[in-house]
Amino acid sequence: MNSIHVGETPCSEEIILQGIKGSPGICIGQAYLVDKEGVDVVHKYPIEAAHVRKEVLRFKTAVKKAKEELSTIISELPEDFSEHISILESHMILSGDKMLYGKTIETIEEEKINAEWALKVVVARIMAMFQDIPDPYLRSRAADISQVSDRIMRNLMGAEKINISNINKRVILVAKDLSPADTSQIQLEKIMGFVTDKGGQASHTSIIARTLEIPSIQGLGNATKIIKNEDIIIVDGSEGIVIVHPNDATLIRYRAKRRDYEIRKANVTRECKNPAVTTDGFSMKLMGNIELVEELVSVIDNGGEGIGLYRTEFQYLSRTSYPSEDELFERYKEVAELLAPDPVTIRTLDINGDKALSYDASNEESNPALGLRAIRFCLMRPDVFITQLKAILRASAYGNIRVMFPMISSLEEVLAARKHLQDAAMALKKANIPHRSDIEMGIMIEIPSAAFMAETLADEVDFFSIGTNDLTQYMLAIDRSNRKVAHLYQPLHPAVLKIIKYVVDIGKKKGIKVFMCGEMASDPSVLPILIGMGLDEISMAPQSIPAVKDRIRKLSRKKSVAFAEKILKQTNITDINRLLAQEDVKAVD
Ligand code: PEP
Ligand code: MG
Repeated sequence: MNSIHVGETPCSEEIILQGIKGSPGICIGQAYLVDKEGVDVVHKYPIEAAHVRKEVLRFKTAVKKAKEELSTIISELPEDFSEHISILESHMILSGDKMLYGKTIETIEEEKINAEWALKVVVARIMAMFQDIPDPYLRSRAADISQVSDRIMRNLMGAEKINISNINKRVILVAKDLSPADTSQIQLEKIMGFVTDKGGQASHTSIIARTLEIPSIQGLGNATKIIKNEDIIIVDGSEGIVIVHPNDATLIRYRAKRRDYEIRKANVTRECKNPAVTTDGFSMKLMGNIELVEELVSVIDNGGEGIGLYRTEFQYLSRTSYPSEDELFERYKEVAELLAPDPVTIRTLDINGDKALSYDASNEESNPALGLRAIRFCLMRPDVFITQLKAILRASAYGNIRVMFPMISSLEEVLAARKHLQDAAMALKKANIPHRSDIEMGIMIEIPSAAFMAETLADEVDFFSIGTNDLTQYMLAIDRSNRKVAHLYQPLHPAVLKIIKYVVDIGKKKGIKVFMCGEMASDPSVLPILIGMGLDEISMAPQSIPAVKDRIRKLSRKKSVAFAEKILKQTNITDINRLLAQEDVKAVD
């Protein structure tokens, strides 16, 4: 999104950037750029003699890519940028220069060390040499070396190498993008909030920010170009605004705003342990979505009555091989025991899509959201799937676990998944390992084909859970993490609402429960529709629970049913939003 310069002060002093609201709240602090010089910590590690050639090749590939990038930039520049073009051309030549290129290869070969470290050492030596040159023009060429080596280094390290867990001061992260693997390393005592150039409201990055209760803004477009390391920035996640080097008046205003936000939040939180009952006595169960066991505390503290969605893929990320059955079992058991007798809905592995495994090469796809993701991957890898299912069934002996399969698109997939579950139970029985085989089994409804097949699928499962994040993505053909189409990502699109209602009605007809665990359920303003449609249970990022409970207590179920009927008659999002806004005003009154 564009940057807007504001205030009477010179425009370089205060910059406002508008992005997409990721997670609410306000934080003020120093920026920490994740993929710029001095941020990525380069580690030294030895390379076995047999792999030195491969390491040299890795370096050559990174240099080749850097040259290609430069060539693309040059070809896109207008001719009157001739000075700029000649600098970039000199960078292309520099990247192949003996001093940099030749010496780095020599260092990898002679010292048998990784390419990143070799490059770092060589660049440091060149820099030291340049510093001693009396000619100021030649001395300034050091900047070119640094830019060229940065470009090569970025290609060598790739996004996966960002090491957020090494940050040792309290900062606000500024990054082009953060993968779920990166965000899963975030330590709350270090990271106050984060902003990214890419992503949207339903991207996993914002979901994690909401769960961690730290302000975040996504889809800023060019934040990493405008914000410098250690700049003071304000992140207003509730408005989707970043203010770079704020002036004193802005700082005072935002400190007050942060205080008000915290007070409001505390008031709502105080009531969160009480049940969510409408004014006419309908009680709605509110559950928490978690990615990590550590988030359980947040579910309990915010008044969650169980786990409606345990995203299990995070235990598979940030490591070098698949976790063992015992490792998984220990984690699931911990969650089940801590929450018993409340239910814990464990969703089986939903990797690939935007959560690819670095150690499984089979995951490179040009269109991962439509690729070998979730249940499709698990059915292709029964070894990985059965390991997880056995861990789930074993943990079920310690609490109230439900198993849920993601990304179901057909009856065959449900039947195949159930067969694997039965096989897992059989194997445990044979080995005399304590477990339960009668746990509830459900599926996520997040692909339109599954929604339309609801009547058939309902005969095979104990519950449905509607995943509105993906359902919206696949209904509307909108990539949920693409900021360019974020304005079209509309969970309140009439088609999405109609399909949700259809699934809920089928659930009622067939006598199975219908839950919702997509982000839509965490928006207090949407609650009259969800209650009115007749959902049995909703699950959300834990810190959203207090506000949603607060809203439910102000609603009448009877009136919500009539309201939902009216909403379902609308033909466009503008009218739906208008009706919701009117309803919101009534709730505040
Ligand atoms: C969903 O798609 O709505 C959902 C809850 O799953 P995830 O966000 O993990 O894809
Ligand atoms: Mg999903």
